[in-house]
Amino acid sequence: MTQNNVRRKTLVAIAADPNSAASPFASKTADLKSLFGNHCFNEAVQRERLPEKVFESLQETIRSSKQLDSNIAETVAKAMHDWATEHGATHFTHWFQPMTGSTAEKHDCFVIPTGIGQAIAKFSGSELIRGEPDASSFPSGGLRATFEARGYTAWDPSSPAFIFRHKNGSTLVIPTYFVSWTGEALDMRTPLLRSMAALEQQSLRVLKLFGNKTAKRVYPTVGAEQEYFLIDRRLAALRPDLLVTGRTLFGAKPPKGQELEDNYFGSIPERVLGFMTELEYELVLLGIPVRTRHNEVAPAQFEVAPFFEAANLATDHQMLLMQLLRNVATRHGFHCLLHEKPFAGINGSGKHNNWSIMTDDNENLLDPGDTPHENAQFLFFTTAVLRAVHKHGDLLRMSVSGANNDHRLGANEAPPAIMSIFLGSALEEVFRQLASGTAASSQKMAPIEIGVSTLPPLKRHSEDRNRTSPFAFTGNKFEFRAVGSSQNVAQSTTVLNTIVAESLDILATELENALNAKKEFNSAVQEIVSKTIQEHQAVLFNGNCYSEEWKKEAEKRGLLNLVTTAECLPLINGKKATELFGKYKIFSKTEVDSRHEIYAENYVKTIHIEANTAIEVAGTMILPAVLNYKTVLAQAATTKLQKELLQELDTHIDALIEQLRQLKKTVTDIPEGNAQKSAEYCCNTVIPAMQVLRETVDSLEESVDDGLWPLPTYTELLFSR
Ligand code: ADP
Ligand code: MG
Repeated sequence: MTQNNVRRKTLVAIAADPNSAASPFASKTADLKSLFGNHCFNEAVQRERLPEKVFESLQETIRSSKQLDSNIAETVAKAMHDWATEHGATHFTHWFQPMTGSTAEKHDCFVIPTGIGQAIAKFSGSELIRGEPDASSFPSGGLRATFEARGYTAWDPSSPAFIFRHKNGSTLVIPTYFVSWTGEALDMRTPLLRSMAALEQQSLRVLKLFGNKTAKRVYPTVGAEQEYFLIDRRLAALRPDLLVTGRTLFGAKPPKGQELEDNYFGSIPERVLGFMTELEYELVLLGIPVRTRHNEVAPAQFEVAPFFEAANLATDHQMLLMQLLRNVATRHGFHCLLHEKPFAGINGSGKHNNWSIMTDDNENLLDPGDTPHENAQFLFFTTAVLRAVHKHGDLLRMSVSGANNDHRLGANEAPPAIMSIFLGSALEEVFRQLASGTAASSQKMAPIEIGVSTLPPLKRHSEDRNRTSPFAFTGNKFEFRAVGSSQNVAQSTTVLNTIVAESLDILATELENALNAKKEFNSAVQEIVSKTIQEHQAVLFNGNCYSEEWKKEAEKRGLLNLVTTAECLPLINGKKATELFGKYKIFSKTEVDSRHEIYAENYVKTIHIEANTAIEVAGTMILPAVLNYKTVLAQAATTKLQKELLQELDTHIDALIEQLRQLKKTVTDIPEGNAQKSAEYCCNTVIPAMQVLRETVDSLEESVDDGLWPLPTYTELLFSR
């Protein structure tokens, strides 16, 4: 069959079968409320199934983020096993987040043979508490010499165990840390929890100064909005680049993209709605609260937004959400793309990290509140965030770097790589006024007197937002928009927690010193807040972050514009990060070094794989197709114009061959032995070579017989469903 027929047949099949495969899991109930958390070993299940003393002890472990008491481990494990078996689980797994950016699991069967033809089902306390995956293949960045390749996994009781179901059964999943025998973090969860502890400690210190006597716990909250693309699996199967790299390495701009702006919030196609309904059903079973679903800006692009939760739980749930997006998409005949930039020239996908700080009294510390006292505390915390982002914008940028996200951040697409803060006009006015000490305002606001004034109403609706800003205050939280759609939110949240903890630490020390010097509380706060804003207001920007003027202006203000991952990598274990992370015990020196190694290697491998895929597709699919077309054209060409067409084609074919050779050479020449050097080489030499090749292929796509073209086009990928 010619390529023509394969592609055409697929399109015809999709058109004839709009609702694709009926899902084996079709959700038959609308009673989502009663299903919520049914597949979670949550507090209610624990209370029901554990002896009261054990339940109390487990709850205390969860509250204080301690390790599980080995005395109760057997009882908890037995209850968990009974519960899981009733839900059809045959296996259990320790589930962790290695530094690959995804999750890892190794399933063990509950059933153990006891003799010939005999077996028992069992799950012990020690199996619950600790696991030893054969982990030599996970990246450790030199943290584990291969002869000592063992790391171990340990249950994090603050994240409840759950049942993960698949087509033919279920697995009991235990969320765990992954650490080396010498105690170094080999995962993303461990540093996240360390950073939560640092933020808690400093926040409680500030709250105490503000006279709060009731808060015992403080934790960051995260609500991560996830963007993704859905395309038909049958078409994805014809695109090796999508299957291997998650993005299209070739593809001419379609006649219709997103220019009509008719997709955003448009009516959701029925087949997609079927997918979303089932996705939400699965999420509800796992106790993952989803709130919003809608079409996004690009054709075939969608978004799902959960309710916010404590950062560690939100991270686990976010990882599960990504897994479920992929699994449920498959059941509905879709291929889910979580890549940051699946299609050139069409909006990419991000993951807005909505972040705030909460007390165990349910007080949102980034909510302005109603009274002058609440306002003062709010200004103190937001000023700390301002300082943090100004001082450590480079580390925030680093926390979202990666080969995939470079396509968004560096490329005039939301948001830019320059880290700035959007406060909204009302709050920015307050900040400017505090910094200048006078009411020099266009809005004619009275000077703010800390402890006396109340703040003007701050808007909370999305219309008022500056969509171009990477870091925006949205009424009672900050929204970090630079996070990539496929990234683990733990990374950006860890950095955010740490840099804000540092700022709170510095500001709290200043406040303590002032109070010790018998300064009046409110005027001490006013002085500290005003001075800090003065020093750090360069990071405030309410204008258009995409504009050329902002790039120039930002440079004048000394704000960094780190366009590529290769530039960000050295920051990971640079002097500033090493000291900061060391001081708050988030990462040791060895841990930051290992991360530099891992992320640099990961970057190089990603580009390497992309280049090899481009070589394969261009060499074995595009070039033969184009030569076929040339044969046809050569036979047909009789007139001068037709012969010119043949000439043009020849020029393009030669360019293609030459550029293919060139790309192969750059790949062979990737330097080895120094991860940073390899990364820079990939960034400066391999990527441009891929780009040049792409341009030739894309222009050929526009002139070669469509019947011979081997790859489904952008129009077909984006509009067939
Ligand atoms: P809007 O509708 O104005 O975009 P929402 O309140 O719906 O804002 O929030 C958007 C995202 O922000 C949701 O995922 C939500 O869970 C999250 N979010 C809301 N409040 C907080 C908070 N205090 N901390 C962290 N995330 C939050
Ligand atoms: Mg958002």
